Amino acid sequence: MSENLHSIDRASRTQVLIVGAGPAGLACAIALKKERPEAEIVVLDKAPGLGNHNLSGAVLEPASVHRLLDSALPGWRETDQAKEVLARTVQKDDVLFLPGASGALQLHPLIKLAGLLGLGPGQMDHKGDYIVSISRLTRWLGQIAEELGVEVHTGFAVEALVPGEGEAVAAGVRLVDRGLTKEGEKQPNFAPGETIRADLVVLAEGCDGLVTERFVQQAGLKREAVQLYSIGVKEVVAVSEEQYRQFGDDRVVHALGYPIWTPVLGPGMFGGGLMYACGDNKIAVGMIVGLDWQENDFNPQDALVHFKNHSFVRRFIEGGKVVEAGAKMIPEGGLRAVPRDPQTGTFGKGNVLLVGDAAGFVNMLKIKGLHNALDSGRLAGEAIAGSMAEPGQAARKYTAALEQSGLVAEMGRARNYRQTIARFGNLLGLPLSVLSGVLPRFEVEPDFKAMRPRHYRFKGNREFDKDTFTAMAQTEHREDQPSHLRIVDPGICLEKCLKTFKAPCITFCPAGVYEEIQGVVKPANASNCLHCKTCQRKCPFDNIRWVVPEGGGGPRYKQS
Ligand code: SF4
Ligand code: SF4
Repeated sequence: MSENLHSIDRASRTQVLIVGAGPAGLACAIALKKERPEAEIVVLDKAPGLGNHNLSGAVLEPASVHRLLDSALPGWRETDQAKEVLARTVQKDDVLFLPGASGALQLHPLIKLAGLLGLGPGQMDHKGDYIVSISRLTRWLGQIAEELGVEVHTGFAVEALVPGEGEAVAAGVRLVDRGLTKEGEKQPNFAPGETIRADLVVLAEGCDGLVTERFVQQAGLKREAVQLYSIGVKEVVAVSEEQYRQFGDDRVVHALGYPIWTPVLGPGMFGGGLMYACGDNKIAVGMIVGLDWQENDFNPQDALVHFKNHSFVRRFIEGGKVVEAGAKMIPEGGLRAVPRDPQTGTFGKGNVLLVGDAAGFVNMLKIKGLHNALDSGRLAGEAIAGSMAEPGQAARKYTAALEQSGLVAEMGRARNYRQTIARFGNLLGLPLSVLSGVLPRFEVEPDFKAMRPRHYRFKGNREFDKDTFTAMAQTEHREDQPSHLRIVDPGICLEKCLKTFKAPCITFCPAGVYEEIQGVVKPANASNCLHCKTCQRKCPFDNIRWVVPEGGGGPRYKQS
């Protein structure tokens, strides 16, 4: 992997430019190279190394990775990397309801029954799926792409698309300036953000990508429903051999209920806990919480602590050592929240394509999106291969391929699911969601509007140790650069938020970035930022903007 842009420096132009070296972007590059070996493809990512900004559960439906690699890389199943990355498949698939700090009810038979009856929740069956580290999967796909001749460059952050003309909506991308001081002055090593021209651009930035969101606005793409998000916080815990043996090397656990939902007494948050076997005596333990929580003093890490202390979970991880930790957002709104061109219905426009989480191809009924990231990336690559002579047609061809592939139909079966729960709450919304595919559309509000001056009832009596959590993500940024976290109107913090909500950004930010210093709320520790973007979507006054920092900063996930 190259850490400089020598080859594109010379020409500052490529045929296809992919923003984001995650599973979707790399699948696109691999599929395109397979179809058009001569194509010039550049993939850029802001992470310091491949896989460093990729964090997920993650269970992966085998067919998606098989479809990608069977044609692109014959014999891939026999490679050492395939055997390592795809070593585990789910054989024990627990779906639990936790009524309180102890006790667990097994719901998996109900999931099976729903599957037999063709009801939506039946999709929550993970048996036979791969249990993967998305960070390792990404490193492996990056190596494959490079071996096929794709240029993959990490440490380069993209600021924006360069506008094009007509159906060639974008003419390329502009990178973030490097070498500015905190005050925005040029240092001796200042390098202005380079412009790289391209015939086609694929936006594969992941959830809530800044270039993507700006493109959606400028190109006039529309969402039928607002995007809803959740935050996932996760730790990889090294446990004893005996604990791991008892848990099982082929097991995943998804748990509803305590500590974020107790049906009568509350709280009533959407989400749940998870445990995944990671191999090597490690278990990933996490908590996913919909950002439409109401409690102003809630921190998802508090919920993770309670989950870890639940009697079912504790016995498998007690005495273990956290070896990695991280946080990221997940786009949960489903098909209706995927932006489309209102005129043509395309997922993108002209020569710009949206893939994976950047588009929002996550199916919350399955609690999975990685298969759709790989499939949408692969289909984008194939569509581009057929559009090299007419780049402005790429979004149309890609959209037609997505619709024929079954991806859109799968997402369609889960449409309204998250909206139904956002609108009616867990108690009514979960049973109603069985019918969500046939229910009429609901208007739901953006997550940040949900907050109320209300306490989280399981708040611990000790602060979660955010410093240790952040250290376990190995996050860092060059200190002397302009802050990538901007508070739009500090007066709102002072006049409204501190009085009503006591500055919830200080509590919910998993990295402890925000502090109140002499009555003023500031992103005082921006260099700790995990790039989860929760603050930009959960500040109750929509008063935070996350802008792209210099490339090469942020977390350094390796096992997540
Ligand atoms: Fe409140 Fe947002 Fe200001 Fe933080 S940044 S104090 S959450 S208004
Ligand atoms: Fe996430 Fe914002 Fe905190 Fe960074 S500052 S870790 S983006 S909540």
